[in-house]
Amino acid sequence: MSVLVVNSGSSSVKFQLVDPESGESLASGLVEQIGEPEGRIVLEYRGVETEKRREIADHGVGLAVAFEMLADAGVALGSDVTAVGHRVVHGGEIFYQPTLIDDAVLKQISDLSSLAPLHNPPNVLGIEVAREQLPDVPHVAVFDTAFFHTLPAAASTYAIDRDIAKAHGIRRYGFHGTSHEYVSQQVAEFLGRDDLNQIVLHLGNGASASAIASGVPIDTSMGLTPLEGLVMGTRSGDIDPGVVMHLRRSADMDVDAIDQLLNRQSGLKGLAGVNDFRVLGDRIADGDDNAKLAYDVYIHRLRKYIGGYMLDLGRLDVITFTAGVGENAANVRGDALAGLEGFGIKIDQERNTLRSKEARVVSTDSSAVKVMVVPTNEELAIARAAEKLVQNID
Ligand code: ADP
Repeated sequence: MSVLVVNSGSSSVKFQLVDPESGESLASGLVEQIGEPEGRIVLEYRGVETEKRREIADHGVGLAVAFEMLADAGVALGSDVTAVGHRVVHGGEIFYQPTLIDDAVLKQISDLSSLAPLHNPPNVLGIEVAREQLPDVPHVAVFDTAFFHTLPAAASTYAIDRDIAKAHGIRRYGFHGTSHEYVSQQVAEFLGRDDLNQIVLHLGNGASASAIASGVPIDTSMGLTPLEGLVMGTRSGDIDPGVVMHLRRSADMDVDAIDQLLNRQSGLKGLAGVNDFRVLGDRIADGDDNAKLAYDVYIHRLRKYIGGYMLDLGRLDVITFTAGVGENAANVRGDALAGLEGFGIKIDQERNTLRSKEARVVSTDSSAVKVMVVPTNEELAIARAAEKLVQNID
């Protein structure tokens, strides 16, 4: 028994065949360089990696090739797969539970594209192709916004004209919800407590922070779209909206050009020319001032959110780092929490620099606030959510 998880994202398609009970990954793969002459599709199955290179027009085409490769490798999707779980970025105000996909649901997801133009259209393409390939298997949409659906009004409301906001669905939705929920549950399990006040820092290419009280999110850094909040690989995070008007009026940039600037040419990439944190570290070591400034801006923003969420929560029990940067970059964890001993936050240098793939505590034994590193696993969380829904239907 397994669940196929499809994450047809803004610039790539990731897929994984997961055993939802054991959490074992049975096969996984990636489609990247979509729209470029030399697209790449990689499949890993039973320790063997196969790769194809060809022009991939769009996410749907890429996923169709991935299905061919799965079949060639001998993966019996038709008989083994009990559900397909699709990561869908924006559920708007309609979807806040894992949802069985039919034509009407797919249309609603497509209609939400105006709120997430970079994300929902590729999600839709992925769903269409997967439904064609596996028509007899239930397909389930798991939404990135769902976990934050119950954010308190004070945290979810933008201070703009109420009628305009209402007419256009403008509110703070929050994203990476599957990861924030999964990681905060792992922390609660690890520490054996369900009354924890937590800050979760999901630091990957995209990055977001959340404040969670006894399993319920009370604030998060992303808003109407995944552009708000922390400095990211290629996204600006928080900026004065006046920048948009200024660029429109003074630089003669149209909306699409500004969208491209803030989503794809900003963040670490905009400041330092690179969005990979490992390369950024090498550049800093080589004395690159732009790379150093990018790092400083990144850390400065992160600390602002941590401080804000400490006050939001009142009492803080745990700060957890997750995703590519959060799980691997000890310097980011150390710098984000440096000098906070007065607030009961004490990192243990040795624990922090130890390399491990396991959930672990990296604060000292005397630290009032525990600092943890917990690997996220959105695929497993999606697989479990899809499986649970399908079992309830049966
Ligand atoms: P996403 O799922 O958002 O694409 P990930 O969670 O995989 O992103 O994180 C990607 C980021 O993690 C990249 O910026 C990458 O440089 C960074 N990263 C991965 N491994 C390391 C490492 N060992 N040290 C520092 N950064 C790392």
